Amino acid sequence: MAIEITKSTVLKEKPDAEHLTFGRVFTDHMLISEYDENGWGEWRIIPYGPFSLDPSCMALHYGQSVFEGMKAYRTPSGKINIFRPKDNFKRLNLSCGRLCIPRIDEEKALEALKELLRLEQDWVPSAPDTSLYIRPFIFADDANLGVKASQHYIFAIILSPVGAYYKEGLKPVKIYVEDEYVRAVKGGMGFTKTAGNYAASILAGEIAEEKGYSQVLWLDGIHREYVEEVGSMNIFFKFQDELVTPALNGSILGGITRASIIELAKDMGITVNERALSIQEVFDRHAKGELEEVFGSGTAAVVSPVCELNKHGEIITIGNGEMGKLTQKLYDTLTGIQWGKIEDPHHWTMDIEE
Ligand SMILES: *Cc1c(COP(=O)(O)O)cnc(C)c1O
Repeated sequence: MAIEITKSTVLKEKPDAEHLTFGRVFTDHMLISEYDENGWGEWRIIPYGPFSLDPSCMALHYGQSVFEGMKAYRTPSGKINIFRPKDNFKRLNLSCGRLCIPRIDEEKALEALKELLRLEQDWVPSAPDTSLYIRPFIFADDANLGVKASQHYIFAIILSPVGAYYKEGLKPVKIYVEDEYVRAVKGGMGFTKTAGNYAASILAGEIAEEKGYSQVLWLDGIHREYVEEVGSMNIFFKFQDELVTPALNGSILGGITRASIIELAKDMGITVNERALSIQEVFDRHAKGELEEVFGSGTAAVVSPVCELNKHGEIITIGNGEMGKLTQKLYDTLTGIQWGKIEDPHHWTMDIEE
């Protein structure tokens, strides 16, 4: 596959690893392809820079916009790994289907991403726990205020070096159980990565933060009873010999970290159940001393231990407020595979030179 590359004439200075934050610095180049009446056009790599958009650009008004998030990791031998990238492009197309956005060729997208990463490889940091965040996205760019599917789209991939998620080690977080606002409902767009789901979640996040909580636990939109997700992560509960995560029911995002954790836990001989889980069951089983660990899962944090849940003022502390053993073991195993430090029995990682 031929990709036209237009190199940037001035290269940016790379930030030092200690001062990396999330999503503020971008690399020198980006990948783009445009969709029109002839379908998706050629993939091109061009200098990173602003788009020129008509003020009536449809994505800005009606939110026809989807994205993905994954990472490239520097291994101890200096190679660059990407983690389950095919799953991300598959999910991007799943999101496209729901939002009437034309699907992309998943194999071509992967080849184009690898080409971009080979060009930008010096941007993949090597300090512990750092990585290069990959953000593919598609948005409608018809100049038209009519409410219907756009005829033109832009697909782009941008890259951003990110620092260690846990600067002071894996620290458990306090979670607020949200029983007023909901993130998504069945029949809506909850299973997709689309801009609007995030817009819907910001207010509850701000209110929780004012109360001293770092994330919200979303409940289902109909009963406000069944556990869905935490912030923009999937969630797991360890009750004695059972690890439970809510079943994918249409309103929950099917995380790739979630799928990986389910497989790793099974490898460890743990019973994993994907099922409906009510917040009442969580609190009841905590009262019986059966709730041992709670953690979120997602590409950014990998695993995020939870030490406290607050449901309308009723507060429970998980374990002794410290990270559980299984949470730690899953974190170590998954990050070990991603950074190429331990064996990868499921062949999840892909070398960009492959
Ligand atoms: C991206 C995302 C996740 C986590 O998905 P990963 O593939 O594991 O990164 C979970 N919930 C929501 C709402 C998300 O947008």
